[in-house]
Amino acid sequence: MKEGNDLVVYNFSAGPAMMPPEVVAQIQKELVSYKNSEMSVMEISHRSELYAEMFQEAKNDFRDLLAIPAGYKILFLQGGASLQFTTVPLNLARKTKQIAFIDTGHWSQTAIDDAHLLTDRKVDVVATGKKSNYTTLPHDIKLEKEYDYVHLTINNTIEGTMYRKLPDLGGQTVVGDISSNILGYQHDVSKYGLLYASAQKNIGPAGLTLVVVKEDLLDQDQDLPSMLDYVKLIKEDSNLNTPPVFPIYAAGLVFKWLKQQGGVKQMQAQNEEKTGILYDMLDNSKLFYATANQADRSLTNVPFTTGDKTLDAKFIAQADEMGLKNLKGHVLAGGMRASMYNAFPLEGVKALVQCLQKFESAHKPMFNISLKKMDA
Ligand SMILES: *Cc1c(COP(=O)(O)O)cnc(C)c1O
Repeated sequence: MKEGNDLVVYNFSAGPAMMPPEVVAQIQKELVSYKNSEMSVMEISHRSELYAEMFQEAKNDFRDLLAIPAGYKILFLQGGASLQFTTVPLNLARKTKQIAFIDTGHWSQTAIDDAHLLTDRKVDVVATGKKSNYTTLPHDIKLEKEYDYVHLTINNTIEGTMYRKLPDLGGQTVVGDISSNILGYQHDVSKYGLLYASAQKNIGPAGLTLVVVKEDLLDQDQDLPSMLDYVKLIKEDSNLNTPPVFPIYAAGLVFKWLKQQGGVKQMQAQNEEKTGILYDMLDNSKLFYATANQADRSLTNVPFTTGDKTLDAKFIAQADEMGLKNLKGHVLAGGMRASMYNAFPLEGVKALVQCLQKFESAHKPMFNISLKKMDA
């Protein structure tokens, strides 16, 4: 939330998304001289004591926040969640060389497409939400083979769906993409073999990717290209090449902020409250509706529409003028989407609900006439 020309701005961007204003202010304050070193954090070596301390603190805080059990390693990498679409199969699909995917929309399909390019791996799409146009998640999944792992996109950023509970996958290894609800929902890490996420949705600046992997799934004798080899990366504690020092620093500050706020439990409660207010409004509206199936609704990304492109565009323009920014839906989905990650304030949702109500009352008469016509 920033004030300029008296207009309070709320940024509903899906990613890169808003960060806690306190953290951005702190970055500004210490940008010129990190810890009184007279050097900017952007200028310090990744082999320096200053960096080593900062990295270890960030890693420890992340472990606490996500409640990562023993036996799991943490990697701070680059290349976005997108590079993990290739890195995960290279590292984890080595025994049966068969991977099962649940198709829940755009990001899962991108992961499927990239896995297909590794031609010595077999890719099975074992369930899909296609029939529902990805508004509903597959929950009843039958695995007929032994796979190296089953891949799920846990929160579907574009379609606005999320798995609150993992489907029964018969005890097979589960890999989860949690890019858009990492640290915003209490994921039970012990249920996964590997979790990965880009930082720019719910943590900090783009350029950082987080991976949590159960160490005993890794083949210590593998020899992959260095930057794609979890074993080598773990051995060098994510410092195999020059890491993205600035995004790691910013993520570390966000982790501290999250701890001060009460951690992930508190974030989940706040995200329930924020999205709850919006879903309530949409469910009671005669003009707008949320597109995702009620039971599968996301706690961070809420796609909605009037069902009329012209009216949607009019609403987006009007909301923008009122300081409600980046409400346009993904190009693939159309309509509107409100992304409300951890740093997004409750007042922003309330402002959106007011704006929706105002727009609805201005457009209701036309709608009521058509309804009456239908009744008659
Ligand atoms: C944004 C997103 C990605 C891609 O992230 P990049 O950092 O752009 O590679 C992958 N999966 C999900 C679920 C996402 O939301």
